[in-house]
Amino acid sequence: MWILEEIVERDIVVDELSFVSETGSRYGWLNLIALRETLNWRFHSIHRSDLASIIHDAITPNSVRYIFGNSIQEILEDEDGVSVVYREGGSEKFDLVIGADWLHSRVRRLIFWEEEQFEHFMWYYVSSYTTDNILYLADKGMSCTVPWRQTLIYPIPGDRMTVVYILKSDKKLIYDRHNREEQEKIVIDAFSDVWPYWHMLNEKLHEADDFYFDTVSQIHMSNWTKWRVALVWDACACPSLLSGQWSTLAMVGSYILAWELYRSDGDYTVAFSEYEKLFMSFITLKQKNAQKLARSFVPKSWFWIWLRDFISSHLFSPLFPKKFLMEYLTDNQLKITDYKKDR
Ligand SMILES: Cc1cc2nc3c(=O)[nH]c(=O)nc-3n(C[C@H](O)[C@H](O)[C@H](O)COP(=O)(O)OP(=O)(O)OC[C@H]3O[C@@H](n4cnc5c(N)ncnc54)[C@H](O)[C@@H]3O)c2cc1C
Repeated sequence: MWILEEIVERDIVVDELSFVSETGSRYGWLNLIALRETLNWRFHSIHRSDLASIIHDAITPNSVRYIFGNSIQEILEDEDGVSVVYREGGSEKFDLVIGADWLHSRVRRLIFWEEEQFEHFMWYYVSSYTTDNILYLADKGMSCTVPWRQTLIYPIPGDRMTVVYILKSDKKLIYDRHNREEQEKIVIDAFSDVWPYWHMLNEKLHEADDFYFDTVSQIHMSNWTKWRVALVWDACACPSLLSGQWSTLAMVGSYILAWELYRSDGDYTVAFSEYEKLFMSFITLKQKNAQKLARSFVPKSWFWIWLRDFISSHLFSPLFPKKFLMEYLTDNQLKITDYKKDR
């Protein structure tokens, strides 16, 4: 997509994720430099907003029209197109609608069914925000885990840091998805005894303008397309953040759909069917892998926390052969057609 250079430029390089106890002392680590090396340096960590702005800027001006601050209220299909009624008023007709509107997709709700029909809750909640680097982190991130709860903090450019809370839960919490106060209270109640620096972070959480709180869920669907509408990325699959590389796969899915549409020469039914055929079984596999990881992601007991952190600390030692790691970390199962050759 000719955007790699910009991605590398905005790469957030953190050398190590240190595992710290509740008193702040380091007892384990994940060597992120060794991780990058194992992946032949083809690993980049980038803010979602940076990625969005790189893609936005890469699109030839005037070739795509952006409409911000609006949403789709209704989708009406007829024989030669699909009409979209906007929330802010007015409507327009298009050939196709591609819903890329995340986990809680409205396009999915309008065309397929309610979210509950497809949501697979992973028994986790995740919260995050960015703030000033008040912990003076330089090149290392920190992670503090106690049974059922994990905090991750890592430095980001501009002398700031990202704070992430992951809460394991044996029940679905009842809260209003549009009420930030309620969500902040869940985080504060759950984490106030976990983290030595909590009192400093508490205030920052209230002030943050990018506070995020949501379930960790997957979307399970038997088809991603219907009529003249297709879903991509989190809207149709969302293996969840537990899959570890979803932004990458999200772009791969869209890449496949885009090229299949190009190749089908206007017959979108062929393109939609190829898109599902080429990508769906692979994503189902990734979802299953994420479900397996969910069991140990934030362990329920001190023993499993110790074991998880011991393995992470020695992941790049001779205990774990490089070949085994490569197989675990990369996705050799998906062979992507070099569409440009077919052009
Ligand atoms: C805390 C957290 C950490 C993560 N960490 C990683 C990671 O380390 N690596 C990784 O690869 N992935 C990670 N992910 C997953 C990754 O962020 C998502 O998979 C990816 O952003 C999905 O892209 P998307 O386009 O489907 O949705 P989004 O990126 O969420 O974009 C959806 C867009 O649709 C817009 N939208 C939504 N609803 C409407 C509507 N009704 N009308 C109009 N517009 C709408 C939104 O404003 C947004 O711009 C993480 C996710 C979370 C929550």
